Formats: sequence, structure tokens, C-alpha cells
Amino acid sequence: MEICDQCKEQSTKSYRAKPHDSLRQVDDVRIFKSLKSKGYIEQDYQCNTCNSKFTQSTNKNDLPWVLWEM
Ligand SMILES: [Zn+2]
Repeated sequence: MEICDQCKEQSTKSYRAKPHDSLRQVDDVRIFKSLKSKGYIEQDYQCNTCNSKFTQSTNKNDLPWVLWEM
């Protein structure tokens, strides 16, 4: 299935951006703690329109919105 326009746009946003209207949360937030830094969280989402999956991460070494190719 084609990736919808909202998901294409989402993949370019910062980690502060909210998920677009058709994204629903999948599973629980994952919290990664580290002794050296503040740690980070990850949350999975799936799009109701095109079924694309995203992982939102606050890890500065990661892309904020990772789009998983289906
Ligand atoms: Zn979508």
C-alpha cells in the first residue's frame, strides 16, 4: 500500500511533533535509561489510512520519526 501524504510529512517532523490524526498508538511506551545521559523513550504508532508503522524516539542519535517500510 502507498504511504499516505500525512505519513510522508510525519517522517520529516521533529520529535516534539504530535502524531498526525490517523496514527494510533501501538503497544506501550518503551523507556531506555542510561547512567550517562537522561535516557530516552520510544513509542510505536500505526496509521489507520495506509498502515504504515512509525517509531517515535527522543534519542538524539536516532531519527525522531522512523517510518518502517512494509
Ligand atoms: Zn499513513
